[in-house]
Amino acid sequence: MGRIIAVANQKGGVGKTTTTINLSAALAGLGMEVLVVDCDPQGNATTGLGLSKKEIILNEDSTSYDLMTNDAPAEECIKETQLTHLKIIPSEQNLSGAESEILNRDGRNFILREKLQKLKEDFDYILIDCPPSLTVLTINALTAADAVLIPIQCEFYALEGVSQLMSTIALTKNRLNAELDIEGVVFTMYDSRTNLSQQVIDEVKSNIREYIFETKIPRSVRLAEAPSHGLPINLYDVKSNGAVAYKELAEELIKKNGKKTESSKSAVKNTTRTAGKVTKSGASKRAVRKTALQDKKSK
Ligand code: ATP
Ligand code: MG
Repeated sequence: MGRIIAVANQKGGVGKTTTTINLSAALAGLGMEVLVVDCDPQGNATTGLGLSKKEIILNEDSTSYDLMTNDAPAEECIKETQLTHLKIIPSEQNLSGAESEILNRDGRNFILREKLQKLKEDFDYILIDCPPSLTVLTINALTAADAVLIPIQCEFYALEGVSQLMSTIALTKNRLNAELDIEGVVFTMYDSRTNLSQQVIDEVKSNIREYIFETKIPRSVRLAEAPSHGLPINLYDVKSNGAVAYKELAEELIKKNGKKTESSKSAVKNTTRTAGKVTKSGASKRAVRKTALQDKKSK
């Protein structure tokens, strides 16, 4: 049974998307079957994993907007990435419109949960990249999730907003998702040369009693560069310290969750796909669904 992890922190630019992309790719590299759900209208996880938003729009491919606003089944929104074991439900700007579309619907907080539950059989991990806000999209992600992973940037004001996030998590747990756990805190953009990084870690440790991942993600130019090439770090520069750190984070997570990497799976790790980054299967399925709906209406 798969584990759904929401990568959340309403503070902007702390490394949510970088962590979603590279932790997912590292898990996939270790043979896990992984799905990324891009729940941010910025669509940075989508482009960072090599999908073109332009192509998605042109092809009218189903995205997380369709997942949230209409009866599109999750399977129909899934696209391949360049890693064999990693798939994605992409997003683009129209997702921001989804918020107002669903705001007055009954059960608006459970949409993602209902859609993703069916996929838990097919994946070991489903990682949801949340937007930098605590709006209905993030609440949907928290309601769908088994656990929240909180990236915290090793910078001044790192704790800003974390207490608000913690109370939102507590509220979600009370009202919407009693099973919601905190997977842990992961420090990002860690710089071992500065005292500030260590001060931030000490401060967080004295304020938060949740699990703190041993693995710290270093500040790394290669990590910052990789998304502009549409590649996760383990395809862009597997030897870089960023790639090593995300692999260690993936191993720590797998160990913490008591999951097993299958040697048969890891034997094909990092198998890359050729071109054709965006599959048309979603689009064609969508066309079939549209026709089916039209047929239904005309009857
Ligand atoms: P948002 O809140 O806008 O969604 P985010 O929390 O998803 O942002 P990212 O987009 O992952 O944050 O990172 C913000 C910026 O910092 C990006 O330009 C990214 O490339 C860079 N970055 C993230 N992690 C690292 C790192 N470990 N080393 C260097 N740069 C990093
Ligand atoms: Mg982001």
